[in-house]
Formats: sequence, structure tokens, C-alpha cells
Amino acid sequence: MQWVILRNTESAARTTALDTSVLRKMIRLHPATGLVELLNILAVVYQDGGKMKFPIMYENSRVPVWLSKITPINVWANSFAFWVWCRGEMSDRTKNHETIHYVQQRELLMVFQWILYGLFHLIGLIKYREGNKAYYENPFEREAYANDQNLNYLNERKPYAWIHYLRKQDEAV
Ligand SMILES: [Zn+2]
Repeated sequence: MQWVILRNTESAARTTALDTSVLRKMIRLHPATGLVELLNILAVVYQDGGKMKFPIMYENSRVPVWLSKITPINVWANSFAFWVWCRGEMSDRTKNHETIHYVQQRELLMVFQWILYGLFHLIGLIKYREGNKAYYENPFEREAYANDQNLNYLNERKPYAWIHYLRKQDEAV
């Protein structure tokens, strides 16, 4: 399995599953470029025939640090839409975990995954009265944690596999 990696530095070292000409265009971009980057990613998706297999991963990013301040967990890496940010260097397991989240979002047209993720978190909060527990019991997280050590998981995964982790929610109390 290959990963797309963008380091949060000028000299971006990477391995990639995407076309190198596309990456050359992306290499100069930084999350701070905001809209420009968004348009660029959409261009990549378009060129790729609507299929972007992997998210764009930033290492040594401040984004997880900021997120940790507003969420119940200490965030090491996080996935949002076409991007993944990590505080440091990502292990294959982390890359796999975050790519599972990317695929979950993609199959739900992004916005529906965000809504559902938020809803599951809310239900978990009401049920367990604890942010940390609500996080780990979220079906999207359950799927990711259950399979992130299997680097072949995304090749075997069936669409909407997270649905199977809805049922298991009651077992682990
Ligand atoms: Zn996760």
C-alpha cells in the first residue's frame, strides 16, 4: 500500500499513489492557502476521474494541537475531507486509520459523515456521560480502530462497512 504524504515543510518528501505531475502542483501548497488548496484538490479529484484513493497527509502539523484543545481526546492525527494532519511523523497504522476515515467520509459525500459522526458522538455522550468513551464507541472510530493494523483492509473493505459497528455498540459497556 502506498501513501500520499506532504510534510509541513518546504522540502516535501513523499511516497505517492498519485501522478507526479499532479503532486508537483500540490507540493507548494500549505493548509494556510485555504481556498486555493481546496480548488487544487478538486482539480486533482477531477483529473483522477473522480477517484482520489488517498487523502493528502500533512506531518508535523499544528492542526491536531488546536483540535486537542476543543475535543475530549488528545489528538495525534485527524482526518477532514481530503486532508489528514498529524502532529509528528505518521506510522503506517496511523496512515491506515486516517485513510479509513477518509473513505468513510468519501462514501457519505463528506457532509453526511460529518453529521453522522457528530450524531454518534452526541448519542455516546448521553449514553456514557464521558467524552473519551463516546469517542471510542463511535461506529466510525470502531471500524477504524478495529482494522487500522491490517494494511490491506482498505483493499478488502466493503462500502459502508462502518454500519456493522453500529450493532456492536451495545456489547462493549
Ligand atoms: Zn479515528
